[in-house]
Amino acid sequence: MNCMAVEAEGRIAVVDCGVMFPNESIGVDVIVPDLTWLVERKEQVGAIYVTHGHEDHIGALPQLLRRVKAPVYVAPFARALLEARLREAGIAADLRTVRPGEVRGAGADSPISAEFIAVTHSIPDACALAISTPQGVLLHSGDFKIDEAPVGGWKMDLARIGALGRAGVRLLLSDSTNSERPGTSLSESAVGVALDQAFENAQGRIFAACFASNVHRIQQVADAARGLGRRLALLGRSMESNVRLAMELGYLKLAGWQLCSLEEARRLPPRELCVLTTGTQGEPRSALARLARGEHPELSLSPGDLVVLSSRFIPGNEVAIGQVVNELTRLGAEVAYEDLRPLHVSGHAHEAEQRRLIALARPEHFVPVHGEFRQLARHAAHAAKEGVAHRHLIVDGEVLELSDAGARVLEERLPVGRVYAERDASGAEIGELVVKDRRLLAESGLCIVVVAVDRASGAVVRGPEIFARGVAGFEGCEDALRGEALRALDELSGPARENQGEVQEALRLAVRRWFRRVGGRKPSVLPVVLEL
Ligand SMILES: [Zn+2]
Repeated sequence: MNCMAVEAEGRIAVVDCGVMFPNESIGVDVIVPDLTWLVERKEQVGAIYVTHGHEDHIGALPQLLRRVKAPVYVAPFARALLEARLREAGIAADLRTVRPGEVRGAGADSPISAEFIAVTHSIPDACALAISTPQGVLLHSGDFKIDEAPVGGWKMDLARIGALGRAGVRLLLSDSTNSERPGTSLSESAVGVALDQAFENAQGRIFAACFASNVHRIQQVADAARGLGRRLALLGRSMESNVRLAMELGYLKLAGWQLCSLEEARRLPPRELCVLTTGTQGEPRSALARLARGEHPELSLSPGDLVVLSSRFIPGNEVAIGQVVNELTRLGAEVAYEDLRPLHVSGHAHEAEQRRLIALARPEHFVPVHGEFRQLARHAAHAAKEGVAHRHLIVDGEVLELSDAGARVLEERLPVGRVYAERDASGAEIGELVVKDRRLLAESGLCIVVVAVDRASGAVVRGPEIFARGVAGFEGCEDALRGEALRALDELSGPARENQGEVQEALRLAVRRWFRRVGGRKPSVLPVVLEL
């Protein structure tokens, strides 16, 4: 859910606007940042700069662009991903392609501009930004690793960062994801070797799962399959659309014979097929999870098939992934994941790379970004070891002010927070209360009490009838509960009985009291009073 604003002389530029995915089942597709602060200042926003096309950096741009009309500066691959997203949402936006080395101002009267700088990451066309302001250059690393042997695309432009460092970087903001991992991350090209080894002795079909945006990984899976004469089929909507996009843009190069339809795939001998699929995080509706449950309409798994998870187990998803691995194994498939072989490498810099960037940029000030608090703190410690005197550990909503007097974190916090949303054309927001209710219902269920009363006298005409969903201990206790509710109504005074609100409250309290007495349960209670 990355989103940052740079403000100078009353003008604003935005860096990225991403989503996060909920890791609880509450019927919410995505969580987007609270954009109120930006929307209230929409006239001041002169540019939106995009570092790369991952969901946690571009996923909430539709929500922002619906309300804030500013040009979006973005490298080609992220642009293609964003265009698809905006088309789905029915939003017209002013997208402008940028390539590394190019500088883009944030509006005619803005003192802010940004230079895009090539970095390596687990998606093509990732960029760092050198943002020029009246208070000097802010270098934002974006998500990066220093891959000396990238599989395709551009290498990280360390020379340019070194030059910026010599000229003077006022503030470095840098990716903290892997600050707890020592040394250097493995190159993406190491995965190709591991995939070759994993694929080599497979007798059945091969299913390889990776992120659909990791084009370089997809290329390596395709290459390993091609070496064994295997054709390539695609499972999952995002896998199909991203592969098509990446081929159109020239980021992915497949042999003419290799790609096949699912219909062709079903007819191929097992040893001649490799299937690329989504679902590395155990998402229940993904192609891999459906394969694992034997519910995929197009393909099924057979004993002897090989499933390779070429991905990281994102913390919080281990249980869901484990479940899928169990089901795949039960079907007789061999499942390989990051073990002794590097079937996956991270797209984020480890400590030594982070320190190398700090040493090159030589910033006066340092702000670790993109990570949990402990990772930010560790990254700040790395910066200290590299001799950066001024380090600021700040959290969402805090403002770092740079002025001639130096830098300080302001007392005032900006409104930030999480907004739950649907991932459909409407992008409709799901209120905080709705989510709270869903959690409550999941925890303890719902009890509905319906009573019909005479409009004139307030006397009970019918009921109370009691219904429950998901409430433990309800069955067989309807009569007792009804008795409790009736007693509560009897105890109401005459005037109170004519007040619908008071009748509802009496019913609610009576039912809750009864549940508390018999077992300490606290279902949500919904009283309904019908006046006849
Ligand atoms: Zn990323």
